[in-house]
Amino acid sequence: MSEKYEVIVIGAGPAGYVAAIRCAQLGMKTVCIEKWVDDKGSVKLGGTCLNTGCIPSKALLDSSYKYLEAKEDFDVHGISHSSLQIDVKKMVARKDKIVQQLTGGVAGLFKANGVSSIEGAARLLANKQVEVSNAAGEKTVYDADKIIIAAGSVPVNIPSAPLLDDVVVDSTGALAFTSVPKRLGVIGAGVIGLELGSVWSRLGAQVTVLEALDEFLPAADAGIAKDAKKVLQKQGLDIRLGTRVTGTEVKGKGRSREVTVEYSDAKGTHSEVFDKLIVCVGRRPLSEHLLAPDCGVNLDERGFIFVNEQCATDARDIYAVGDVVRGPMLAHKGSEEGVMVAERIAGKKTQINYDNIPAVIYTHPEIAWVGKTEQELKAAGIEYKVGSFPFAASGRALAANETTGMVKIIAAADTDRVLGCHIIGPSAADLVQQVVIAIEFGASSEDLALTVFSHPTLSEAVHEAALAVGGHAIHIANRKPRKK
Ligand code: FAD
Ligand code: AMP
Repeated sequence: MSEKYEVIVIGAGPAGYVAAIRCAQLGMKTVCIEKWVDDKGSVKLGGTCLNTGCIPSKALLDSSYKYLEAKEDFDVHGISHSSLQIDVKKMVARKDKIVQQLTGGVAGLFKANGVSSIEGAARLLANKQVEVSNAAGEKTVYDADKIIIAAGSVPVNIPSAPLLDDVVVDSTGALAFTSVPKRLGVIGAGVIGLELGSVWSRLGAQVTVLEALDEFLPAADAGIAKDAKKVLQKQGLDIRLGTRVTGTEVKGKGRSREVTVEYSDAKGTHSEVFDKLIVCVGRRPLSEHLLAPDCGVNLDERGFIFVNEQCATDARDIYAVGDVVRGPMLAHKGSEEGVMVAERIAGKKTQINYDNIPAVIYTHPEIAWVGKTEQELKAAGIEYKVGSFPFAASGRALAANETTGMVKIIAAADTDRVLGCHIIGPSAADLVQQVVIAIEFGASSEDLALTVFSHPTLSEAVHEAALAVGGHAIHIANRKPRKK
C-alpha cells in the first residue's frame, strides 16, 4: 500500500488542475493523476483545453485572422503589400509552442502550490481507493479522504464517418493539418465546427458545413443566430442545414486521397467530394474504464457522472467536476466547479450560479452570450424589455473598421433586472463579461446605464444597449420602449 492523500484529483484538465491547486491552497495534501503523455513519455497537464481545445484553436484562429486582415482589410487603412504568404507549418508550430508553454505552466503552478502529480490512468475503487496504471503497466493503489473526478470528455465518433488518418479527422486532427485543404467538409455546425471551419476558410479552403438540424445555433438568441449565419455565409462558409451525413468513403492514395460524403436533406440523397473532412458532432464524457462496479458512483442515462448542484456524486466524499458531469462543456464552467468543490471540502459554502455562465464562439466577429434568450423568455411567458446597439454606430468600432454586429441586453419588464446579453461583434467575448458581472451583482439595466464607460471603447456599445432598454440611448434613434 502506498502513500495516503487528503485529496486525489483524477484528471489535470481545467477542472482537475484548478481543483487540485485550490485544495492545496486550502492546506490539503493533494495529488493530481493524469494519463496524458507526450511522445517522450512525459505527463502532459492541462487536459483538452490546453492541449487540443480552447488554446490551440484560439492560436490558429488568431493567426488565420491576421492573415485574412492582411489580405482583405489592410487596404482600407491605406496599407498595401506586394506578396502575402502563409507558412502553415510555422503557424501550427507556433500553436504547438504556446501549448507547450501553458502545459509547462501548469506543472510550475503545481510545484508552486505543493500539488503532487502522478502519471497514469486512474480507476476509482470502493472505499475511497484509486488504482493507477502507468505506461509501463504497473499498478499502484492510493487512498484518499476525498476524491475529485475530472476525467473530461472526448470527441463523439459517428459510424457514418469513421476517422481515417489525416483525411477524416476530429477536432484534434483539424488542429494539426500541415497544409490548407482545397475542399474541406465539416460535419456539425456547432461551436467547434464553426471555429475550425473558419480557421481553414480564412486560409483559403472552400468550406462546406453539413448540419443535421434545421436551426442554426439553437442555443443562441434567435436574432443573433440569424445575423451570425448571414455573416459567416458572406465570409464563404457554405452552411447547409437539415443535412444529415449518412456515409463516407475515402478513395485514392497518398496526397491525392479524397473523401466522398453521402448525405440526405429534404430534397433527397446527395454526395460531395472533399480533400479533408472534420467530424465535429459533439463531445461525450470520458466515463468508461474509470469506475469499478462497487465504487458507489453512478452515471446518468447519457454517461455523465451523476452529481448534485454542488458536484457531489452518490458516493460519500467523492465529487465530479467539468465535462464529465452535466452542464455546458466549457473550460470555465469546469474550473469554477473545481474551485467550488475544493472550498466545500474545506468547509466553505461556495456555490455556482449555473444561470450565469457565458458562452462564446470565437468566429470573427465573435458571438457571445449569457443568461436568457428572447425565445426562452417568450416560451416561459416572462415579460421583458430589450435594448440593442449596433457597432456601426460606435466610434471605436468605426475607427477599428469592425462595424459588423450589435449588443442586445434583455431586462425583466417589471424589475428591470438584467436577464441576458447577446452580442455578435468585435471582442464580444470580453464585452459580454461586463454583463456577466452585472448579472452576478443583480444589476438592473438602469444600473448599467448609470455606470460611466470610458470613451472611445467598444464597451460603450454595452452602455448604449443598456440605455436603449430604457428608451434613451444617446447615439442611435430610440424605438419607443415596449414590453415583449
Ligand atoms: P479535460 O480538459 O478533457 O481534461 C480531462 C483530463 O483528464 C485529460 O487530461 C485526460 O487525459 C484526463 N483523464 C481522463 N481519464 C483519466 C483517468 N482515468 N486517469 C487519469 N487521467 C484521466 N471551452 C471553453 O470554455 N472555451 C473554448 O474556447 C473552448 N474551445 C474548445 C475548442 C476545441 C477544439 C475543443 C475540443 C474544446 C473546446 N472547449 C472550450 C471545451 C474545453 O476544452 C473543455 O470544456 C474543457 O477542457 C473541459 O475540462 P475538463 O477538465 O473537464 O476535461
Ligand atoms: P456541438 O454539440 O455544439 O459540438 O455541435 C455538434 C453538431 O453536430 C450538432 O449541431 C449536431 O446536430 C450535428 N450533427 C450530429 N450528427 C450529425 C450528422 N450525422 N450529420 C450532420 N450533423 C450532425
